[in-house]
Amino acid sequence: MILKKIILISSVLLISLTAFFIFHNTSVPQNSNDKRIYTVIIDAGHGGKDPGTTGLSGVFEKNIVLPIAIKLKNYLSKEYDDLKVVMTRDKDEFIELKKRGQIANSENGNLFISIHCNAKKNEENDKSGFEIYLLDLARVDEANKITLDENKFIGYNEKIDTTYLTQNKMLAAVYQQAYLNYSERFSSMIETEIIKGTKLPGRGIFQAGFWVLLSASMPTVLVECGYLTNSSDEEYLKSEKGQDEIAKSIFKSVRYFKLEYDFENSLMQ
Ligand SMILES: [Zn+2]
Repeated sequence: MILKKIILISSVLLISLTAFFIFHNTSVPQNSNDKRIYTVIIDAGHGGKDPGTTGLSGVFEKNIVLPIAIKLKNYLSKEYDDLKVVMTRDKDEFIELKKRGQIANSENGNLFISIHCNAKKNEENDKSGFEIYLLDLARVDEANKITLDENKFIGYNEKIDTTYLTQNKMLAAVYQQAYLNYSERFSSMIETEIIKGTKLPGRGIFQAGFWVLLSASMPTVLVECGYLTNSSDEEYLKSEKGQDEIAKSIFKSVRYFKLEYDFENSLMQ
């Protein structure tokens, strides 16, 4: 019985590793010895027919996160000549969640930053501040409420079948385990910089089962920049100053992270 279980587990492991190499060989950098950060993927949440959450004043999340993402891209492009910055969307356009990860992989991204804004649930007291999320595979199925809000468009529009989910969970398990340490370090750099550079209070770093983080094979983080259901957060998130300060803080954290990542990986060559 135990032997059967061991054989079964080994087979699953073997299949997932084989699938890992078959399906993700496109994401291996051309020079696989070179592990520096060359491509940053910026993912502005929602867009088009998916407005995301709605603020007290009626503002849509999709229209807050896009200018923050564009400002972040501009800061990065100005700082680095040799860094490719790819946006999963650069206009008010609907992009499926699955497609966002595919874009990141096909562009050989080395870092994936998804930008969102939050909303409190009806039964909750007022909430304010930013949160950072890492992928927790165990929670992909669970779809707790906050996750459900960010994931809901996959349910409505993409009709994800269980085979896709199982396959991606296996692949992501291999990848995210490898990148979790980097994702965690990057998250705490973002947390430090946003606390220093904006008026938003930090609510912490959490793990959740966000679909958009599932299919990107690189260090990935999702930033919930603040609560559109809080009047002070909303006003700040809507303002040019607020959007600029958030973008600049994330930019600074990318700069620190890239410095550390590139240095460490150059030692390993
Ligand atoms: Zn969102």
